[in-house]
Amino acid sequence: MRKPFVAGNWKMNKTAAEARALVSEMLPGLRAVETVERVICPPFTALSTVAELLAGGPVGLGAQNMHWEASGAFTGEVAPAMVKEFCQYVILGHSERRAYFGETDQTVNRRLKAALAAGLTPIVCVGETLQENESGQTYKVVSGQVRGGLEGLSVEEVGRLVIAYEPVWAIGTGRAASGSDANAVVDGIIRPTLQEVFGNAAADAMRVLYGGSVTGANAAEFFQMPGIDGALVGGASLKPADFVKIVQAAA
Ligand code: PGA
Repeated sequence: MRKPFVAGNWKMNKTAAEARALVSEMLPGLRAVETVERVICPPFTALSTVAELLAGGPVGLGAQNMHWEASGAFTGEVAPAMVKEFCQYVILGHSERRAYFGETDQTVNRRLKAALAAGLTPIVCVGETLQENESGQTYKVVSGQVRGGLEGLSVEEVGRLVIAYEPVWAIGTGRAASGSDANAVVDGIIRPTLQEVFGNAAADAMRVLYGGSVTGANAAEFFQMPGIDGALVGGASLKPADFVKIVQAAA
């Protein structure tokens, strides 16, 4: 059995002071849903504040990115140990990082290995663009991202990460994929690719999330799909009632 998992990706929103207020508002609701692994991913500058609010509790904390080098002359970057000081999770390879900041499967792979070595649980994002979807390249793109992103990992390491399937055309657009279309990619592309590379058990055990315009109103449609184990939530994770509702729907 795969434990349901819901993470909120705040993206570039909320100062530390705003984060304190937002987390305080949603925390009681999140705490109550014990059967779901639930995680909040605020910007770097709010991590220390939010870590204090979550300390010792059941709600996890994640960063939205991380560099692979341990330290040194990398202006503006954040190292694995710096993330690990406050967080248990890290989002890697989000499509916004791939589209705007030159992230590739190779750099995702380096970050992923560094995150696993640091003892973090990575949430690795994959997904095709609208153009790739419409030109019939979804299999090639998503399967390639899984292979490339996870290249060289051991089966044990694969067991310590989570994958988020986020079709780029569904992110922040209000146009979510249908549950069955998302499930077709998860169980028809992502798990078969994992099975080919890492074996049956690793593919079966992998938690795969759907992301892209998930709301309190549509979350249940995804969670009732056999291959979808949770959600990576952007916009709705900034709305306490909505985010709590999504977490409840995953239980
Ligand atoms: P969205 O973002 O829920 O706002 O579409 C999802 C994501 O990018 O993780």
